[in-house]
Amino acid sequence: MKRLVALCSLVFADPSLAQGVGYDDTPLIPGQAWRVHDKNRPNPPVVDPGPAPTTIAPAPSDAIVLFDGSSVDAWQHADGSSARWRLIDGRVMQVTPGSGDIQTRDTFGDVQLHLEFATPEKVEGDSQGRGNSGVFFFGIYEIQILDSYNNKTYADGQAASIYGQYPPLVNASRKPGEWQTYDIVFEAPRFDDEGELERPAYVTVLHNGVLVQAHQPLLGATQHRNAPSYQAHEAAGPIKLQDHGNPMRFRNIWVRPLNLDIAIDDDDIDDEDDD
Ligand code: MG
Repeated sequence: MKRLVALCSLVFADPSLAQGVGYDDTPLIPGQAWRVHDKNRPNPPVVDPGPAPTTIAPAPSDAIVLFDGSSVDAWQHADGSSARWRLIDGRVMQVTPGSGDIQTRDTFGDVQLHLEFATPEKVEGDSQGRGNSGVFFFGIYEIQILDSYNNKTYADGQAASIYGQYPPLVNASRKPGEWQTYDIVFEAPRFDDEGELERPAYVTVLHNGVLVQAHQPLLGATQHRNAPSYQAHEAAGPIKLQDHGNPMRFRNIWVRPLNLDIAIDDDDIDDEDDD
């Protein structure tokens, strides 16, 4: 038992797992002992997710296909202009650095999202400058996309982090150039008529099939070097992909709109008791 405890503390608290890249002058993350992008926050253990699948996961029958290789028509820039990301071989879309983020023309609330990405095979840059993109729900809540294969960066900014809030449970990244998957369940935040937060957003993420975020309550909209907070917004918003200056590739993106307003109130419970 002693050995197990020692082993656990080694895995979860060994300061050598902190990468030393990041900040020590940022605000504390609300409810946590760490600062935003804390340079001393330990990085999660590395897990090998196994080889990339050789076939593309088919979209379920009720999914809305956002990208299947045929066109980028489901996407636009924030000003409404057509997406200027490159379509390659009728198969892949690639960030055109400097063209700007793209977002869905449709808007969504609660969703299940599948997307596949590859960071550039030719490694350039380091930390946040290496293979950076991101998927933003409502355009403001980011799940980080990054080349986190042997790439030092701060824990809350690596691949599959809820950027600036929560590192992933493990680092399940594949090598640069290899296809990787995110499967994400995003539960939209709920606001009351006065704009007060009723229920935070929750996010569950599987990275290459490995659980990395388990129903995490978001602390607010994504911030860089600042503490997150909520501002009321509509019940649906676009899904955004980030142009962070790296020629990232994407394929096979689909979404299943959900309604996770599962009302449980005392009446329901009483009814159950009576049966
Ligand atoms: Mg990013």
